[in-house]
Parts: sequence; structure tokens; C-alpha cells
Amino acid sequence: MLISLVVPCFNEEEILGCFHTRVTEQMTRLGHDFQLVYVDDGSADRTLPVLEELAATDPRTRYLSFSRNFGKEAAMLAGLQHADGDAVVIMDADLQHPPELIGRMLEEHAHGYDQVIARRTRRGDRLTRTLGARAYYWLINRLVDVELVDGVGDFRLLSRRTVDAVLELTEYNRFSKGLFAWVGFPTTTFGYENAVREQGSSAWTFGKLLNYGLDGLLSFNNKPLRAALYLGMVLMSVALVYAAWIVGFALMKGVDTPGYVTLIVVVTALAGVQMVIVGVVGEYVGRIYYEVKRRPHFLVKAGNTAVPNQQAREFVRR
Ligand code: UDP
Ligand code: MG
Repeated sequence: MLISLVVPCFNEEEILGCFHTRVTEQMTRLGHDFQLVYVDDGSADRTLPVLEELAATDPRTRYLSFSRNFGKEAAMLAGLQHADGDAVVIMDADLQHPPELIGRMLEEHAHGYDQVIARRTRRGDRLTRTLGARAYYWLINRLVDVELVDGVGDFRLLSRRTVDAVLELTEYNRFSKGLFAWVGFPTTTFGYENAVREQGSSAWTFGKLLNYGLDGLLSFNNKPLRAALYLGMVLMSVALVYAAWIVGFALMKGVDTPGYVTLIVVVTALAGVQMVIVGVVGEYVGRIYYEVKRRPHFLVKAGNTAVPNQQAREFVRR
């Protein structure tokens, strides 16, 4: 059995050597054939030269380098496309996904599970991020129809058929957490203590997290549109009742004109609600816009893997 390890890397020059050694040791101990598929996501540092060096010294190393930063989702997609293992493990380059867990994953896989997910605790995270995550998952699980779990990330083992199924989903807006959940197949989860990042820094800023969260909410189904519809209906009923009350009052007691404040509040509140709803609709239109363009998910500028790739033309100077 061949195991592929897919590793997206963005500015990871400091840790890649250490990562490679630890993973190689671990895999050798487990005694499986393996290959490493590194995807350099347009790093600005020496990640690419480091990968070239690793590939030169270790023939089990494959690598690809994007023409610019296309994001981790694109990097994972590229990695999955270029992995030909019977099982694929996706892991981060920063050693926050302990290589020691691969053994456990393979064990569970041998018991017949197609997806083996390592779920991290939130130890070492800032309180704001932990609370934010909790609120987010509470909300998102009400708005999408696949089940998303807090702490479940991209660190997981996928069987060949799961990888093939994920690659069938060629949408442009990729939200892998959701895609993996959508694909289904027998899945099992186990927990691990979150490791604190050893070197470099997380590329996630608050803004990026927020955008990622919105992507998750909107790129998956149209429940937010449905929610907008219900909100509109509720507001309309309230407005109708209120109007009836005003008219009735005027008929019985005659017209008088206080209520300027109420009027302004209602007008601005409704304008706000409408903007939000138009925004939600706009988000979906925007997504359609990107989907119909059919642009490739990424462009490759260098690499040592020549697996045919229908979705993205590769601009490798050989
Ligand atoms: N990464 C990537 N492209 C990006 C950002 C991150 O390929 O635009 C990679 C990064 O090199 C790492 C993994 O995705 O291997 C997770 O990133 P990071 O550690 O910054 O995120 P966190 O662990 O904070 O979720
Ligand atoms: Mg990390």
C-alpha cells in the first residue's frame, strides 16, 4: 500500500527540513511505502529552493510550485491531484499536525474507514478565537446541511475513492471542510492535543478567518437565501400589523403627527435589512460569476511531477 502525504506550504522555509525529517522517520517506522507531495503556494521566502533540495536528496518527494499565492484550498487540490497513493494524508507543514498520529490513522483506515479525521483541541488558542469558533459552528450547523465540527480541520486520511470523489467536485469556490463532509463514506474521528506552532507564524489574520467563515456559510447551499426570505416575511407581517394599528387608531381618534423617531428607526432598520439581503443575494451572484468563468484553480510555475492535469495548465519551464 502506498501512502501519499499532501503538504501545502506557504512561507515555511524554516520548518520544512525538520518536517521532512520527522515525517520520513515516522513513515519508515510504520513500514509503509510513501510519497510526499509538497505544494508551494506562491511563497515569498525560500520555500521553493528548500523543496527542490529535498526532492534532489529524497526521491520520494514530489513538489509543485504555484505562480502566486492561490490559498490553501487550491494547494490541497493540487496536492490531491498529484498524489497517487492508495490512501492520502493531508497535513500542514508547520508540525501542528503531529506526524505520530499517522500510525493511528492508518490503523483506523485498516478497520475500513474511508476518512479518518484528527480533531484538535483548542489548547493554546486565544480565548477570542475559541469563542468565535464556537459561535461560528453553532451558527453554521444551522445554515448548511452537512455536519461541520469544531476542531476538525484538514488533517485527515482519505481513502483512494474519497480522494477521487473529492476531485470530482470541480467547483471554483472550494471549502474543503464542507466538501469532505459532503462526500461522506464511512468516517471516524479521534482527538489530539493541539500543538503550538514551533516556527514561522500563522498566515491567518482575523480578516482571512472572517472571509473563510463566510465562504463556508455561503458556498455550500442556499439556506442563507432562505433565511433572508423568512426574515423579509417576518418583517413584512410586523409592518402590516403596525400599519393596520395606525390606520385603525387614526380612524377612531383622528390623525396626529408624533412618531418622527419611530419613523426614522423603522426606515433605517428596514433599509439595513434590505442591504443585508441584497448583499447575500450578491454573494451568490458573485459566486456564479466565478464559477462560469471556469478559470483554473491555480497555475503551476515549477515542479517535478508530470501527472496529467486537466484542470490547470502547467507553465513549467523544463
Ligand atoms: N497555507 C497555504 N496557503 C496559504 C496559507 C497557508 O498553503 O495561503 C498552508 C501553510 O503553509 C500550512 C497550512 O496551510 O502548512 C496551515 O496554515 P497556518 O499554519 O498558517 O494556519 P493555522 O494552522 O493557523 O490554521
Ligand atoms: Mg498552522
